[in-house]
Amino acid sequence: METRHVPLILVSHLVNIRYLTGFTGSAGMALMGLRQGILWVDPRYTLQAREQAEGWEVIEEKKGILKGVAAWLRKEGIRDVAIEASSLTFAQFECLRSETGNTLSMKPAGDLIEDLRVVKDRGEIEAIRGAGKVTAEAFSELLPYIRPGVVERDLATEIEYRMRKKGAEGAAFESIVASGPRSAYPHARPSSKALQESELVIFDLGAILAGYAADMTRTVFLGEPNRRVRELYSAVLKAQSGAIRSVENGAAAGEVDSSARRILAKHRLARYFTHSTGHGVGLEIHERPRLGKGETTCLRSGSVVTVEPGVYLEGFGGVRIEDTVLVGPQGPEVLTPASKECWVIS
Ligand code: ZN
Ligand code: ZN
Repeated sequence: METRHVPLILVSHLVNIRYLTGFTGSAGMALMGLRQGILWVDPRYTLQAREQAEGWEVIEEKKGILKGVAAWLRKEGIRDVAIEASSLTFAQFECLRSETGNTLSMKPAGDLIEDLRVVKDRGEIEAIRGAGKVTAEAFSELLPYIRPGVVERDLATEIEYRMRKKGAEGAAFESIVASGPRSAYPHARPSSKALQESELVIFDLGAILAGYAADMTRTVFLGEPNRRVRELYSAVLKAQSGAIRSVENGAAAGEVDSSARRILAKHRLARYFTHSTGHGVGLEIHERPRLGKGETTCLRSGSVVTVEPGVYLEGFGGVRIEDTVLVGPQGPEVLTPASKECWVIS
């Protein structure tokens, strides 16, 4: 904060509030200074905030959190505060301004807290490792249920049930189960379609543990795969393994993306790979860094990213393989250890 000349920041993004204070409630605002931290909550959360936000002054606000923040700023005579431009709404901005008598100057804080979140500490890594294990185990247990006639939505329900039974707080995102031609939609929602013989099926799932997410995709084929399916699968698998190998401390994020693309290009499949290779994972399912084309940000030891190349052929289907990977001091470590030999012979 000192180097960026931000003496005071009003934190409104709940995930960032959780990251800084430990408070997990669904409403609140935090003001972080160089020497002090205040957390405003409504009466539903007073006790919880006092328990969770160690070292923070907790203020209970009965008549609106924002009004409380504004009153405090006014009382303290504060004229300048940095805000989180991508989470504070325009209505909140206006309210702060009018409630302080139009004397408050608000500037965007930049991605100060998001930048801190990029490198995980030991506790955070353990949480993601746990989430990855639950995710991988839930999928392995699901395999016997994957057969013709089973409905996509039922498999998605089964995934979430199994993750919760294993101690997950829930799913980090709505699980994807997409079969046949629907597997060509990278972000299909599970439907009432039943799986059929000789179809590709994409499963994209992730558990949350202690607030932290994991993210994993596996693709299976129902039946004896023909040559085309084998080629697609093995090309994506090679692209994924190659990209995982390039996940190293100091490597440019874009380099991981281009190693996946290079391998798919050798198989003439690059044009079917329509999204970026991966993204950071942590308290949020999509966070920094982005592993996309031309990204120059360097990966740092302690970051956790996904590596998820995929190819999508309209009318035919898709293949995607994704793991959550830790940028370790000795190289990449896969945190979602589920088998990638997922041919289901019915
Ligand atoms: Zn995913
Ligand atoms: Zn992902």
